[in-house]
Amino acid sequence: MQRTARLKPLAALLLSASLLTGVAHAQLSPAPAASANAPAGTTAEARKANIVIIGTGGTIAGAGAAATNTAAYQSAVVPVDKIIASVPEISKIANVKGEQVFQIGSESFNNERLIKLAKRVSELLKQPDVDGIVITHGTDTIEETAYFLNLTLKSDKPVVVVGSMRPGTALGADGALNLYDAVLVASNPASKGKGTLVVLNDEIQTGRDVTKTNTFKVETFRSPFGPLGYVVEGRTLYFRLPARPHTTQTEFDIDKIDKLPEVAVVYAYGNMNPAAIDAAVKSGAKAIIFDATGNGSVGDYMVEPLKAARAKGVFIVRASRTGSGVVIRNGEQPDDKYDWIVTDDQIAQKARILMALALTKTNDPKALQEIFWKY
Ligand code: GLU
Repeated sequence: MQRTARLKPLAALLLSASLLTGVAHAQLSPAPAASANAPAGTTAEARKANIVIIGTGGTIAGAGAAATNTAAYQSAVVPVDKIIASVPEISKIANVKGEQVFQIGSESFNNERLIKLAKRVSELLKQPDVDGIVITHGTDTIEETAYFLNLTLKSDKPVVVVGSMRPGTALGADGALNLYDAVLVASNPASKGKGTLVVLNDEIQTGRDVTKTNTFKVETFRSPFGPLGYVVEGRTLYFRLPARPHTTQTEFDIDKIDKLPEVAVVYAYGNMNPAAIDAAVKSGAKAIIFDATGNGSVGDYMVEPLKAARAKGVFIVRASRTGSGVVIRNGEQPDDKYDWIVTDDQIAQKARILMALALTKTNDPKALQEIFWKY
């Protein structure tokens, strides 16, 4: 009896706390006309945004055998509708509809899948009753998909790619909050015209710059320039804008792209084997991103194989395996003399995307170089 009596106030406290949380969510919910950084409740509007959540797989759709399996589990098994249903708070902030496009680990994305996904997103963005898109995606290659969409979609409407580092079955699972935050960001008109965004771990990143930096930690996504903003307590807070052209500002249009040329990435290391260059050429690569050491340095024994590849018509693009910084044209190597290209600051996996798109437009090495400096 005594116990029950003591529990009662606690239960009441918990109830009122949950009610308070509900009220807070309602007040903080974004409305289509709300400014991103406006204090909660000042710009409320009745209409909820219509968001399509496209499922493609990854850990956010993963399940482990035990709650302690935070890093060992099966990815890409939970259907997108089930993921959405597991976060009922989402229905308070947006009208959402799930659509399963793939159920794969993101390492299995190839050009065909990338194009298929982007075309579907483009189609949905044209619908007047769609305000924004969220894509659930494996974290391994989220940065490549986001960059591709960032360069090829022709719409200002928000597109947010989201994943998680732990499956929903794990202790400390991060997918539910990441998905909630992604829907918040996609629903917020302040996210319009900012290019394709990536939301994880309370942060909003630009698809251009973000990259995965850790194999298991929830704090894995980073940009050398920092995030564009935060998502906190139901608020979307922007602090920066993307400086490079994206979406509607680019010359690449997914509706006009059905195939991408083959672009290979060759990683440089001490005692590397030049046969990797020959293999890329023989396989039909139109360009090789040479993921070089330091500022795009090329070992003395690698210069001739790269020049030979260029002589066969294959474009050579110097990148840096350091992960950040710009590769200086005519710095470590005489690019003008060899007719090579530098990536600017793009890491190899993003340079591959940009080069493949650039090659759909031009075969002029000078124009290709300009494209790297532009995007
Ligand atoms: N390798 C899987 C993928 O990228 C799981 C990793 C993750 O999503 O965090 O889809």
